[in-house]
Amino acid sequence: MPELPEVETVRMGLEKHLTGRTVTSVEVRHPRAARRHVGGEPDLIGRLSGKRVTGVRRRGKYMWIDVADDTDRAALVVHLGMSGQMLIARDGAPDHTHLRIRAALDDDNELRFVDQRTFGGWHLDDYAVSEGADDIPVSVAHIAPDPFDPAFDAAAVVTRMRAKHSEIKRVLLDQTVISGVGNIYADEALWRARLHGARIAETISRKKLLELIDAATAVMTEAVEVGGTSFDALYVNVNGQSGYFERSLNAYGREGLPCRRCGAIMRRESFMNRSSYFCPKCQTVPRRRAR
Ligand SMILES: [Zn+2]
Repeated sequence: MPELPEVETVRMGLEKHLTGRTVTSVEVRHPRAARRHVGGEPDLIGRLSGKRVTGVRRRGKYMWIDVADDTDRAALVVHLGMSGQMLIARDGAPDHTHLRIRAALDDDNELRFVDQRTFGGWHLDDYAVSEGADDIPVSVAHIAPDPFDPAFDAAAVVTRMRAKHSEIKRVLLDQTVISGVGNIYADEALWRARLHGARIAETISRKKLLELIDAATAVMTEAVEVGGTSFDALYVNVNGQSGYFERSLNAYGREGLPCRRCGAIMRRESFMNRSSYFCPKCQTVPRRRAR
């Protein structure tokens, strides 16, 4: 799944192309792409058509497009899933192979949702709270703020982390504690903070956890600057281009290579059906592990 930097790359592109535009018509080309919309496909098409885009926002890995007309406002929540792409194309440009939904715009462009594996999709959602620009869609309301959110409170996040008797990497991936961090940026942040992911969160000092949050914020900031990580050719911006942060990865995918800090050979361990990459010297393996 794309993590915060990859989603932010897409969000920035959409914001630039969509804000102020009106959706003139919508075509759902595969029912799976609309399955999360409660009212079904005709309702999604009817409610989205004619609406103007007022903003494109994100919390963690979750992105939505604010749309409104004179009588109704809603959030078009975009699930990228494993392979979803949000692309801007000229009206009449040849269809992409896995085109699932198209929304025609009033500037002779189309917003296209292309999704090879059909895990993703769109749904229109109401807002959980009504506080103007800070409204959050109902389906995103349980997600914690990410480190780029003005509402993010690092000290409070550290307190919540230290209340957990579980591995720190698992806590870092818990989107209700801190959002936006996935497997890749978790490994990078842990490497930077010199923490092994199997350390129990409650045994780590507040200072070290703040360092970890700073590291996660820094690595994701750097990744956004270069368009994210292209660990899969499917992660592209609205123009179909890939980012290149994978060149800057210090931990993820570097099994068997020397640590860029100390030269020790990097290792890989299985973790939650995926992998964790770490330096056995900089990130000491804890003797005590979670049950
Ligand atoms: Zn090292």
